[in-house]
Amino acid sequence: MFLFSIGADAYVRDLFRPFEAEGIELGRISSAAHEQYRIYLESGECEAVPAGRLRWEEALPAVGDWIAARRVDPNLVWMEAVLPRRTQFSRQAAGAAISEQVLAANIDLALIVCGLDGDFNLRRLERYLVLAKESGAQAVIVLNKLDLCQNYSARIAAVEEIAPGTPVLAISAQQSVQPLETLVRGRTVVLLGSSGAGKSTIVNGLMSDQSQLTQPVRASDSRGRHTTTSRMLLPLPEGGAIIDTPGMRELQLWATEGSLDQVFEEIANLAERCKFGDCSHTNEPGCAVRTALETGGLDPSRWESYRKLQREVRRHQDPAGLKKEWKAIHKAMRHHPKYNRK
Ligand code: GDP
Ligand code: ZN
Repeated sequence: MFLFSIGADAYVRDLFRPFEAEGIELGRISSAAHEQYRIYLESGECEAVPAGRLRWEEALPAVGDWIAARRVDPNLVWMEAVLPRRTQFSRQAAGAAISEQVLAANIDLALIVCGLDGDFNLRRLERYLVLAKESGAQAVIVLNKLDLCQNYSARIAAVEEIAPGTPVLAISAQQSVQPLETLVRGRTVVLLGSSGAGKSTIVNGLMSDQSQLTQPVRASDSRGRHTTTSRMLLPLPEGGAIIDTPGMRELQLWATEGSLDQVFEEIANLAERCKFGDCSHTNEPGCAVRTALETGGLDPSRWESYRKLQREVRRHQDPAGLKKEWKAIHKAMRHHPKYNRK
C-alpha cells in the first residue's frame, strides 16, 4: 500500500514483473547523493547499494527510480536493476567529457515556480519550459506571491502568451497552496524555479509540516535561503510524492532542439516558411523569421531568448557544433579589416 501511494501503479508493477523472484522486492529511491542511496520498500526505508552490474553498465539509479532490490541485511538491499524510466531530468555531468547525468526519474508533473515580484522573468520561464518538455513530465506554471503584485493580470497574460497550452496558476503560497492540492495528488512532482520563488513554502504547504524551514527573504533581490534535508523524495500526505533535490534547483540546460522547437512553436513554424531549408535567419532572402521580426509578427526578445537557448543546447549536445561555431568566428575575424592590415 505504501509504494502504491508513492506511485507504484499497475504500469510500474508491470515493469517489475520480469524481475519478480524469490528475495527480490520492488523499491523506489528516496535519496541519492555521492553514490549513497536510500530506498523505500513496502516495509520501510533502508540503505541501498548498486550491484556491480549497474556500475559496469553505468546505469546508476537516480532519485525516483523504481528498483528491483535484493535484501541482504535487515537494513541493506542490493539494487539489481533499474526499471525503465517514464521521464527523467538530466544535467550535464561534471568533468571534461560531455555526458548526461540523471538527477531525478519518473516525474509526472513539473511545477515551474516564479514569483510575481522581482523574480518575475519570462525568459527564465522559457528556459524551464524547455527543460520540462525535454523531461517528458507535464509542466504547470505557478506564479507565486500574488499578494505582492499589483498588475498581476498583465503578468499572467504575458506568461500565457509565451506558454500556449501550459496551465498557469497564480497563488500566494504563504496564504494557501490549496489550488495545487488536487493537481499534485497521486503524482510525482518536482518544483523548478529560482531561489526565493517560493518552492520551499509550497513544499511545506503541501506536506503540511515543517520539514523544510524557510527564512525571511532579503528585500533587495527576492532571494530566500533554504535548508535542505537529506531525503529527496517526500511522500505527500494524500498520495503522490515531491522530489526536491539541491541539484534540481540549479539545473543546467540539458535538452534537444526538438523540445526547444516545441516550446517556441511559433518560431519553428516561421522557420518552415523560409525560402531556404537551411536558412540561418540572418541575411538570406525570403527569410520568414526576419520578415516577422521586421513587421512586428515576432517579439525580438522572444527571438533572442530562443537563440540563446539554442546555442546552449547545441553546446551541450554537440561539441562538433561548437567547433563549427568557433570556426565561423575565426573565419569572420580573418576577413575583418582590423586583422587584415598589411
Ligand atoms: P525557494 O528558495 O524557492 O524555496 O523560496 P522560499 O519558499 O524559501 O521563499 C522565499 C521567501 O519568499 C520566503 O521568505 C517566503 O516566506 C516568501 N514567500 C513565499 N511565498 C510567498 C507568498 O506567496 N507571498 C509572500 N509575500 N512571500 C512569500
Ligand atoms: Zn530564415
